Amino acid sequence: MNDQNFLKENNARQLWHPMGHPAEAQANPPKIITKAQGTKITDIDGHEVVDAVGGLWCVNLGYSNDPIKDAISSQLQELPYYSAFAGTSNPPAIEAGFKVQEFFAEDGIERVFFTSGGSDSVETCLRLARQYHRLRGEPNRTKFFSLKKGYHGTHFGGASVNGNNRFRVNYEPLLAGCFHLPAPYPYRNPFNETDPAKLAQLIAQAFEDEIDFQGAGSIAALIMEPILGAGGVIVPHASFMPMMRDICDRHGILLISDEVITGFGRTGDWSGARHWGVKPDMMCTAKGITSGYFPVGAALISGKVAEVFETAGPDGGIYHGYTYSAHPVGAAAVSACLDETVRLDTKTNAAARGTQLYEGVLALAKKHAIIGDVRGGHGLMTGIELVSNREAKTPMDMDTMKRVHQTAYEAGAMVRLGAHNVLMSPPLTITEAEVDVILSALDAGFSAA
Ligand code: PMP
Repeated sequence: MNDQNFLKENNARQLWHPMGHPAEAQANPPKIITKAQGTKITDIDGHEVVDAVGGLWCVNLGYSNDPIKDAISSQLQELPYYSAFAGTSNPPAIEAGFKVQEFFAEDGIERVFFTSGGSDSVETCLRLARQYHRLRGEPNRTKFFSLKKGYHGTHFGGASVNGNNRFRVNYEPLLAGCFHLPAPYPYRNPFNETDPAKLAQLIAQAFEDEIDFQGAGSIAALIMEPILGAGGVIVPHASFMPMMRDICDRHGILLISDEVITGFGRTGDWSGARHWGVKPDMMCTAKGITSGYFPVGAALISGKVAEVFETAGPDGGIYHGYTYSAHPVGAAAVSACLDETVRLDTKTNAAARGTQLYEGVLALAKKHAIIGDVRGGHGLMTGIELVSNREAKTPMDMDTMKRVHQTAYEAGAMVRLGAHNVLMSPPLTITEAEVDVILSALDAGFSAA
């Protein structure tokens, strides 16, 4: 069953691949990645490239981290599974809970609720936000605000606050009472405002106006990514998240920071909110929590929110959780990954290599007229928006996007396409020479457009 022909023939036949059209995958089967070492991945034909995507924004420590691999295999021998539902617990879960809380203590985080991934973490935070207000005697605070272009996973709650129509339209009706503010995206926005600071103010004002219109007493939370990832690496002005924090505080609205991508060093700091000097009420995490080696997420809860639950009497019960919440093997991966993240100080390399990548792409923009906008400069998240006409900002067609992607791949780097954006989020352990490989592969890709 493992020979190359079998794998190629059946790649998309029985298997439906996420986020794609099944017929398209059958006609043009996805690349089969067979192994990985360090920052490099190898496909079934033996072609090796630098993984400029870091798996899926998640392999923060690269593919060769032995302490995480060892922790997983020894935990499998000791206790492969036991639940952490009320009544039982397990040692790796306790240790991982302790370590995650410690890691995010500076962000005001005091409690940790483990999940199986990012969408679960988002769902958990949204549910806890409603329960928090109910416990405080404001049960009418049920609505959620979020940003257009934001990505918050694919559960019904997350899809409802999602800011990209593609992830919503086929699954409607979604959760009622979800509202979207414009994205802090100077290149394209309804105000035609190109100054990031002024744009931040306009969006803050729009939020204030909506609160005034709908009534603060109906709003549970604002959920936002500190830097929008899947929406195209949209970096808000430094004033944006602090302004949103202030508005939430003044109106009793919880601020949920979706750190599924930005957590654990990707922005050049340990959390995206910390990068902007903000303490959220809750944080959604996943991905870098195990560097992608095991599917784990965590909803992180501030002291302010935790206290309400813990002092509420019987209604403070959390009747929510997953079979794999605090899975012992996953939890062992979390502890090892956090130790390694701190030991390797990945945030510092993310900041340095992120600047190198961003500046390298800015240099490419001088050479290639198809580059409409370059976004990044805050750690290892970089987005390049391609256009067929710079003045008109006409989004690049998908055939050209695919040609850019394939040429860059042949030239040595796996990048990711998100509509007409090229997205990059390599492992935080990437070297200077590997960033240069990505840049020359991009150069080749853009030349083939
Ligand atoms: N939130 C954000 C910001 C994400 O980027 C993602 C995934 N890319 C999710 C939530 C959902 O995470 P998962 O795919 O692990 O469910």
